[in-house]
Amino acid sequence: MEVKVIGFWGAYPEKGEATSCFLLKKNNYHLIVDLGSGALSRLQNYIEIKDIDAVVLSHFHNDHVADVGSFQYACLVQEQLNQLSVKIPIYAATDSPTAFKQLNHQATVARAYDAINPQQIGPFNITFMKTKHPKPCYAMRIECGDDVIVYTADTSYFKELVTFSENADLLIAECSFYKGMNGTKAGHMTSEEVGRLASKANVNEVWLSHLPHFGEHQQLFEEASELYQGRMKLAYEGLTWHS
Ligand SMILES: [Zn+2]
Ligand SMILES: [Zn+2]
Repeated sequence: MEVKVIGFWGAYPEKGEATSCFLLKKNNYHLIVDLGSGALSRLQNYIEIKDIDAVVLSHFHNDHVADVGSFQYACLVQEQLNQLSVKIPIYAATDSPTAFKQLNHQATVARAYDAINPQQIGPFNITFMKTKHPKPCYAMRIECGDDVIVYTADTSYFKELVTFSENADLLIAECSFYKGMNGTKAGHMTSEEVGRLASKANVNEVWLSHLPHFGEHQQLFEEASELYQGRMKLAYEGLTWHS
């Protein structure tokens, strides 16, 4: 199994880059996790549109779904070019019914997931947990054979995240704020909270993502390192994890 960062910014993409988007690959199956602004363009550095098998969305904030419309047009064009034989499923929760329905398009189909039943998407078995965020948002525990990847999506720190992330091979954690700031109201985590989460959950590796447009990101890394001594990386486009 392979995990690749496509976009890692919070809010909006810096020049030539993208907000949240990850490419998961197992054998010939390709799953996209979130499709933020700029992501569709950056994705094509690594994969052709016609080879994308499914998309799963954590929530309907623009920095996670802004390129869904572009993706639907891209799928439509691929279909017209006879490159696509089936509608591409886009998985999301149904808390926002209007946004959910818009995932249906000529060449894409909306598929619902929930926090109760794990969802099998190709080779990936995904368990969802609702996070603490202003819009309904879901963290994902993605299992594939012996590999466990946890993606916090957007959330403030809460203790159930620790159990949810326990012993993950890779934790992709949102890290929107610096140590000493208060992310609770905005529904985001600080570097200190990410360090605590990674340490308590005993994960093997952590990536800091959903990065802010202020301060020095290296400081986030150092602050998280005070609590977590394992392998840690600041997300960047192309950063790849292999099992
Ligand atoms: Zn959000
Ligand atoms: Zn976000």
